[in-house]
Amino acid sequence: MTTSSNLIRCGLDIGGTQIKAVLIDQSGYILEEFDTPSNAHLGPDHVKASVLNVIETIKKRGQAIGFVGIGCAGSVDSDLGIVRNSPNFSAWKNINLKTWAEQTLRIPTCVDNDANCATIAEWKLGKGRGISNLVLLTLGTGIGGGLVLQNRLYRGATGTGGELGHFSINTRGIECPCGSLGCFERYCSASALKNKISDLSSREIFERATTDFNCKKLVDEFLHNLQIGLVGIANVFDPDLILLGGGVSKGLHPHIESIRLSVKNRVFPAVAENLKIDFTQFGNNSGAIGAALLGDLKHY
Ligand SMILES: [Zn+2]
Repeated sequence: MTTSSNLIRCGLDIGGTQIKAVLIDQSGYILEEFDTPSNAHLGPDHVKASVLNVIETIKKRGQAIGFVGIGCAGSVDSDLGIVRNSPNFSAWKNINLKTWAEQTLRIPTCVDNDANCATIAEWKLGKGRGISNLVLLTLGTGIGGGLVLQNRLYRGATGTGGELGHFSINTRGIECPCGSLGCFERYCSASALKNKISDLSSREIFERATTDFNCKKLVDEFLHNLQIGLVGIANVFDPDLILLGGGVSKGLHPHIESIRLSVKNRVFPAVAENLKIDFTQFGNNSGAIGAALLGDLKHY
């Protein structure tokens, strides 16, 4: 017999091309992780069909789901479960995923910003466990940000807080689709690197930096801008820990000691003394893992 204590939790991170899904048990043990196409380019109804397909597949295997958490890039009203808009889904305007999911799946559902979900995963199960002041940056196509301040996930007045990709590091810098100039993510994301050398991926640019002058120049610029951004974030929030995640962060591993040193040399001394900078534990699965934990965090 299924009881509430053995119902599993399903976390879904809906991206532009893939839905990342994880199943975790009530104690936070990760049972399974898998990907499936999101079909986001076909519109919201196709994404909903993909979500439905994931849940039905799990149910058919006899696994009983007690909670579904959904993470999604963009502006999300987590109280109502509404995706106001999302950079991954241009056609999405005020899509109420929570209401749709609860009516269709008949399972309690929460919806939140994907970077908030990633932050929750690291805070509750990963490198950020026991940390009261945590900043998470996901360096991917853009830059996502999440904040835990004084032991609470910080969402801001409208749920848009923590958009750390959109503070300016160059007041006369590159125009950003958000309307501002010189936003952090215009300089320290995969798309920023792609704009400089279109035929190489960010991974290839980092790999070739030891032998190719142009790649080295780009990586040096990237690291300089990243350090400037991290110093600003550290001085504003005085965090215990900054975690770096997202696909681009893989290229930063050989540079982590110089990043730590450079940031510590520039921030306020008290901040420097306490601050740690590290990589995330769960990498690209952190959004889905955190989504599965959203039900625990209603009151955080
Ligand atoms: Zn911006």
